[in-house]
Amino acid sequence: MRMRLALLMVGLSVVARGDVFLLPTANRAIYEPGQEEKFFVPTPGKTWTSGTFGCVRTEGWQIHEGLDIRCLQRDKHGEPIDPVMATADGSVVYINIHAPLSNYGIYIILRHQIDGLEIYSLYAHLEEVRAGLKVGQSIKASDVIAMMGRTSNTRQRITPDRAHVHFELNFLVNDRYAVWHKIALPGEHNDHGEWNGQNLLGIDPWAVLLAQHKQGDKFSLRQFVVSQPEVCRVFVRHTAFPYVKRYPALIRPNPLAEKEGVAGYELALTFNGVPFELIPRAASEIKSKARFQLLSVNEAEEHKNPCRRLVIKRGSHWELTAHSTELLQLLTY
Ligand SMILES: [Zn+2]
Repeated sequence: MRMRLALLMVGLSVVARGDVFLLPTANRAIYEPGQEEKFFVPTPGKTWTSGTFGCVRTEGWQIHEGLDIRCLQRDKHGEPIDPVMATADGSVVYINIHAPLSNYGIYIILRHQIDGLEIYSLYAHLEEVRAGLKVGQSIKASDVIAMMGRTSNTRQRITPDRAHVHFELNFLVNDRYAVWHKIALPGEHNDHGEWNGQNLLGIDPWAVLLAQHKQGDKFSLRQFVVSQPEVCRVFVRHTAFPYVKRYPALIRPNPLAEKEGVAGYELALTFNGVPFELIPRAASEIKSKARFQLLSVNEAEEHKNPCRRLVIKRGSHWELTAHSTELLQLLTY
């Protein structure tokens, strides 16, 4: 009996090999086409797509930056009790145990180093964090880190039928966020230091999981990220901002800039503002003296995913918006 169990476990580990990201709960319906309703929890009165990542809220004009994953297990009072597990090996960087401080309620952020990229997973609306879990602690993929719940500080509570874990995969914009926030947003209280939601930019975890599921061992997070559709390209007249140091794997070499010296970076942004390609540029390649310059807009992508409003068309030409300018200020601070 013991032998058979051991064999079974070997079998499972063979199947799991190559999966960089694991699902954060036992709900696996995401891998069964047509079963999306069993995986995603919609907002009241809407279809399952409102529980996915992207411009899926408020008629497409509001972002939902993660996946709302349906609960599978309940106690006798109907409360969710699904264990929530780490999606990948990593370490704990933030635990918010004060539910009233966030619309995420009780939540955990883990840091992972995958394919040369620092990526942050976030698990929200938890009932409780696993006893003893501490910031700085190392975590293995599939380690239980919490129990699912319904915590949030929103006026409209998460009803039991909508019980879910909100799951994100994020890039960190700037580890000097807390200092920037004080100066840039003086009236706004910041309860979460550099772990403020404004400092985390999400990519679509569903797309990541499906790509990985399809490609198996060939899946590369870096390849996935650099293949994202861009909504625009911008030039920033800054050379040594933290993002460049944190994400060297996203830099596309430019021999001219290496020869003449780097005057700034050209950035490709996803509709959600994630800089996913950084090209060093020489002064001779840049005409404008502006600190931030919009270089191009992918109108098809902008029409498809307009909810972050990074660019706006005035008359016949496109401009950066107040939102994207603020994002670039934070990025280069
Ligand atoms: Zn959510």
